[in-house]
Amino acid sequence: MLAVDRGDFAPSDPYEDSPKRIGYNTTISAPHMHAAALEHLKDHLVEGAHALDVGSGSGYLTVCMAKMVGRTGKVVGVDHIPQLIELGINNTKKHHADMLDSGRLVFVEGDGRLGYKTGRQYNAIHVGAAAEKIPDALIEQLAEGGRMMIPVGPEGGNQVFMQVDKINGQIHKKVIHGVRYVPLTSKEKQLGI
Ligand code: SAH
Repeated sequence: MLAVDRGDFAPSDPYEDSPKRIGYNTTISAPHMHAAALEHLKDHLVEGAHALDVGSGSGYLTVCMAKMVGRTGKVVGVDHIPQLIELGINNTKKHHADMLDSGRLVFVEGDGRLGYKTGRQYNAIHVGAAAEKIPDALIEQLAEGGRMMIPVGPEGGNQVFMQVDKINGQIHKKVIHGVRYVPLTSKEKQLGI
């Protein structure tokens, strides 16, 4: 995280440990939540790994993930708001344009509840918005031995940060701690239209 300047991604008080509004009824998550996510995923975000960041928003965590998987890895950031895809790309260009140029990091517009198919499953999946239920597509797109970190629970209610491992084809879920995230929802609901 020290290698990725939050000042490039948060619109105000970037070094404060709290979420900040980035528009479209959403926030860049607090640094301690980004740190927790990376800590739980670190053994899966190794050189050459393939990773997915659902709800990439500001792009901060997506760039951290791309840093960890190195030049031979690949990270896909997906968000359903086109302006946030633009934001993620523009923020990344400030100091990490090389990641975009090499294709190590891509930002794509889409419904993250469907994951994003690339022909290869993901060693690590991070979800930056709370799901009512873990989307089946994300379980399917997780590679053998892979790990997903996903906040699960109702909007504004009791949510938990969940660790999901795929071991010998079996899914193992573990509750890490309580959290408060914006919902993983439809574009219309998020924008109130
Ligand atoms: N991880 C990012 C953003 C967290 S906010 C950061 O820290 O900057 C949650 C993000 O999830 C928002 O950008 C929102 O647009 C996105 N989101 C919510 N529901 C989504 C869905 N169904 N598909 C894709 N993105 C979604």
